Amino acid sequence: MSDLQPKQAHRFAVVKTALWLLAVAALLLFFVLPFLTNYALRSGYQFKSMSYWLDVMQGMQTFAMHAFVYLWITFLGSCFASFLNVVAWRVPRGRSILGSSHCPHCDAKLSMRDNVPIFGWLMNDGRCRSCAAPIAVRYLIVELLLGAVFLLLFLVEVVWGGLNLPLRPEVNLTGVEFLLFTPNWFLILTFVYHATLMCGLFTIAVIASEGKRIPLLVVFFAAIFLVACASTWPHVIQVPWTAGVGLVTDWPPEVFDRTALNTILLGAVAGVVAGLVAWAVDAVGLARLLNRADALPDQANADQADVKPIHGSTGGAIVVSMGLVGLGLGWQSAIWVLLLWSLGKPILRLLSPGRLLRLVSNGCAVAMFATMVHITFWCWQMPVKFWLNE
Ligand SMILES: [Zn+2]
Repeated sequence: MSDLQPKQAHRFAVVKTALWLLAVAALLLFFVLPFLTNYALRSGYQFKSMSYWLDVMQGMQTFAMHAFVYLWITFLGSCFASFLNVVAWRVPRGRSILGSSHCPHCDAKLSMRDNVPIFGWLMNDGRCRSCAAPIAVRYLIVELLLGAVFLLLFLVEVVWGGLNLPLRPEVNLTGVEFLLFTPNWFLILTFVYHATLMCGLFTIAVIASEGKRIPLLVVFFAAIFLVACASTWPHVIQVPWTAGVGLVTDWPPEVFDRTALNTILLGAVAGVVAGLVAWAVDAVGLARLLNRADALPDQANADQADVKPIHGSTGGAIVVSMGLVGLGLGWQSAIWVLLLWSLGKPILRLLSPGRLLRLVSNGCAVAMFATMVHITFWCWQMPVKFWLNE
């Protein structure tokens, strides 16, 4: 412990210096250098490689802007992960989500800088600052994970102009610059809607991985947020329920109409059914047949893992996860996610003998990954395109 605190202080100083250097670099790149160049141009001063220099400066500005936006979105995702981790820990234990965090070991109050996602863990070397008790690396990993989910969604849906969406809007201009100067609200709201869904699935997966029951409050909150978003901006529902049944006309609707309402209701029902199927598949052990390690008695697995065996407890949770997917994306997506889930689960189990990966291969985490894959490749999942008569 005695040599730990100087190490943490040292890391903090390094990060602080790095942030200051970045701020100075941004100031130079966006204010000082353009000003000086402009001044030189106006006063008729020319030097040999002037145009080359201007190109380089512009290139660097573009790069800095892109890097800033992408890092910011990733950081936003990890902030949500940090908050949802608190929700996932406290709500099943009946505690208030307000109030500051404490170290579970020594009960010391955590300061602002300890709570900063990713950096807090890295700067403290994965230990509590007062008692040096280790903080699980999974906090760092799940924060990076949701950050990556946000970044990927943001790239395909906003920066690349909804490349993945089954009903692509007319987008002539794509890229970060156009996002900043002429924002496309159709795409931004779609991103927000899908990010919300992923946050809901993330929270359920974290709670399920600890073997806790999913509190109704968490489910209701996610569902209400999705329904509120879809009824205010119905175009965020990408595929109407009629796609695959009949011809699709007048879609997306201007206001929340009957078709939109039916899409949500039918989607939720289909999602719950898909979840029950997933539960049954798990119980029957179809996934286990493909994975011999899993066919061993649970005791053998429990020895190498201090995580409790999670079968059974994820049963109800997978129904809730799939229900949210159906509610948010429609019945067609519920089928796709169920398919991807059944493919992904045995594969993840095969790849994950370790404790940590065992954590990500629980049913609800797989449902979250399957949903992410489905959204990312939505328009290439052919039947949808066929149904929409494109
Ligand atoms: Zn402590």
